[in-house]
Amino acid sequence: VTDFLSSERRSWLMSRVHGKNTKPEIAVRKLIYALGFRYRLHDRTLPGSPDIVFKSRKKVIFVHGCFWHGHRKCPRATMPKSNKDFWQDKIKTNRKRDAKDERKLESLGWKVMTVWECQLKNSEKLAERIKKFLSE
Ligand SMILES: [Zn+2]
Repeated sequence: VTDFLSSERRSWLMSRVHGKNTKPEIAVRKLIYALGFRYRLHDRTLPGSPDIVFKSRKKVIFVHGCFWHGHRKCPRATMPKSNKDFWQDKIKTNRKRDAKDERKLESLGWKVMTVWECQLKNSEKLAERIKKFLSE
């Protein structure tokens, strides 16, 4: 049984899955820019069309929403009580696709870093991690 409101809500949420230029993504971009690195966005020629691409370094960063990409043990990834099976299934599919994209990128010689939405809470720590990833 699907009522109008929940299907509306559902499709809205679904549209966010592959959402580009999401709030966390923009925050990460600003952080990287402030660190002095330059990048390209959403390279569709690469597996998974990574959010932030450092072509000359052969490195990419994905910015993942905790719920959508199923961040393990993260409070933001808590399942809603209604339609639990539906969400679990969706998120499992997303996780699988993420892992597959990462493997593909690595097999092409790219280094991959994933930034989770919740890690933006500690932006200093995140900036350190990104700097290390891009410098090594
Ligand atoms: Zn998280």
